[in-house]
Amino acid sequence: MPHVDTHCPYCALQCGMRLDETRVTPRNFPVNAGGLCQKGWTAGALLKSGARLTSPLLRRDGELQPVSWGEALDFVADQLLASRREHGADSVAVFGGGGLTNEKAYLLGKFARVALGTSQIDYNGRFCMSSAAAAGMRAFGVDRGLPFPVTDLAGADVVLLAGANPAETMPPFMQHLDSAELIVIDPRRTPTAERAALHLAPAPGTDLALALGILHAVVAEGHLDKSYVDLRTAGFDEMWRIAATWWPERVERVTGVSAADQRQAAEMLARAGNAYVLTGRGTEQHASGTATVGGWINLALALGLPGRAGSGFGCLTGQGNGQGGREHGQKADQLPGYRKIDDPAARAHVAEVWGVPAESLPGPGRSAVELLDELGESIKALLVFGSNPVVSAPRSSRVQERLAGLDLLVVADFVLSETAELADVVFPVPQWAEEEGTLTNLEGRVLLRQRSIDPPDGVRSDLSLLRDLAVRIGQPVERFPDDAAEVFEELRAASKGGAADYSGVTYQRLRSGEALHWPVPDEAHPGTPRMFLDGFAHPDGRARFADVDHSGPAELPDEVFPLQATTGRVLQHYQSGAQTRRIAELTAVVPEVFVEVHPDTAARSGLADGDRAVVRSRRGETVAQVRCVPSMRADLVFMPFHFPGAARANLVTNPALDPVSRMPEFKVCAVSLARAEA
Ligand code: SF4
Repeated sequence: MPHVDTHCPYCALQCGMRLDETRVTPRNFPVNAGGLCQKGWTAGALLKSGARLTSPLLRRDGELQPVSWGEALDFVADQLLASRREHGADSVAVFGGGGLTNEKAYLLGKFARVALGTSQIDYNGRFCMSSAAAAGMRAFGVDRGLPFPVTDLAGADVVLLAGANPAETMPPFMQHLDSAELIVIDPRRTPTAERAALHLAPAPGTDLALALGILHAVVAEGHLDKSYVDLRTAGFDEMWRIAATWWPERVERVTGVSAADQRQAAEMLARAGNAYVLTGRGTEQHASGTATVGGWINLALALGLPGRAGSGFGCLTGQGNGQGGREHGQKADQLPGYRKIDDPAARAHVAEVWGVPAESLPGPGRSAVELLDELGESIKALLVFGSNPVVSAPRSSRVQERLAGLDLLVVADFVLSETAELADVVFPVPQWAEEEGTLTNLEGRVLLRQRSIDPPDGVRSDLSLLRDLAVRIGQPVERFPDDAAEVFEELRAASKGGAADYSGVTYQRLRSGEALHWPVPDEAHPGTPRMFLDGFAHPDGRARFADVDHSGPAELPDEVFPLQATTGRVLQHYQSGAQTRRIAELTAVVPEVFVEVHPDTAARSGLADGDRAVVRSRRGETVAQVRCVPSMRADLVFMPFHFPGAARANLVTNPALDPVSRMPEFKVCAVSLARAEA
């Protein structure tokens, strides 16, 4: 094939690239303007890798052994039917991923609810975006990560980044911030914080108190945009009853950020002609993540930013299809079009598209952590698509135990991930460049990723896998198309009239290069690059303040676990590392897990740079190489979460859940530090 213009397989920026067989070169697409990060440059390496799976695998005598597609499909279908017969439909669960194309996410939700009849479906985006999504939905009536194009940021005077580190996680994004003054909120001095005019480093888990403190300063110093608040919002008075009690000096005692710095942040934002508040995982992955994002939205609303041309609020979605992946029905509580599963009108609409009675559709199921925690109990069989929860879920040793207690574990992947290693059946599926499908990037723009090369022999698409299983368990073949374009046509109909309306998006329009940001309610509609300019998505058109209060982390340090640990990503690796750990250029730079520690903290534990340390929490321990970093807070350690086995950062993380989003608290837990046995 000649070269193909495509998009990077990794993060939600979805940089434009050109692929010539396996050779990647950047191309000039608005979000990356010709730039790529190291992951993007090396993305072709895995396409011809010997690590690729090319045959279904079935566990026999304790070993995964190659079998035909027919044998593997028959085995799985028989097991699913037996589980349903003996234990009921909810004994089978499905776990999806935020990297799946829109078509796969859509068909997976339909497969679960129609073919399996189970309510038990959720996905790894619950670990990633759910708090921001819940807070955005509550405040604005709809959740689109950035309700404006990334390129609008180039006109900003000031950008506040709360818990986001794009200089490391999506470097080409930073060019859009070149002319802005940055306020960076992060307990670590990250590469993004290095570029800040003002870096505020709150104590871990105190972000909401800091948001309240800056908001207090905005109001107290007379910077409240009163006319905007009166005309375009609701709930200020209820919100202020709590926020008024968080004056900067009080916030300083909780967060460690000086009152003067809080006031300076307020002043910078208020004096800016154009300003944005953006959040990332650092402020979202908490047991109070929804409230915390609500706190940053309150600040943006008080300043009159959301829905104003040249200013705004947004969150930086992480996974490649983190936005689309949460819109098409693989979430426990949602149907396609970002519809609520317990809304009778939504159920009726989707059921009609699917050709089934609305009353046959199951209701809401368990969220990701709760679903994984139920494995081996009422859930007897699990199908995993595009996810590696053995590495990426909190308290992952327990997840591993739970997976071992299943009657049936099925994994669809293109490499033998750590979760696939435990499976009873593994199906080999294509990689990004080997199939067609759409993704929706962090600014709500729908992108068509074209097929660039042929998949290896033996590989079949996830869509055909779902169809073949559906037929074997009694569904009519025409109900489960296996062609991406055909699935997309159905997705368009299912999304029509929903919050994320794709009904005007066609493959033809995407192929012609149209920039279609949803909602796109008909084929003549130009798309909606900027949302909320005329009103928010609540029936009265007003955004909602959230009456949120600081509560702090679910687990505090004590004598046994005197430090706090936080986790995150590094430039060279993506998510659970199942892909990037197989790319030599990337592992050459970051080959293994490390723990960043202040030199004094390391010394107090008898550790020096390069030593091996045990990081221990109430849930388990990880062994990591010590990196002494003078800019670290003395009370904090940091570990990347991309590594498997005993190097899993998620062996120590806390599965405490946010009450609204069910997001686990990846970003803070109490730990101890000690020298590892030689
Ligand atoms: Fe761009 Fe993200 Fe890919 Fe890096 S990983 S090239 S920032 S899309």
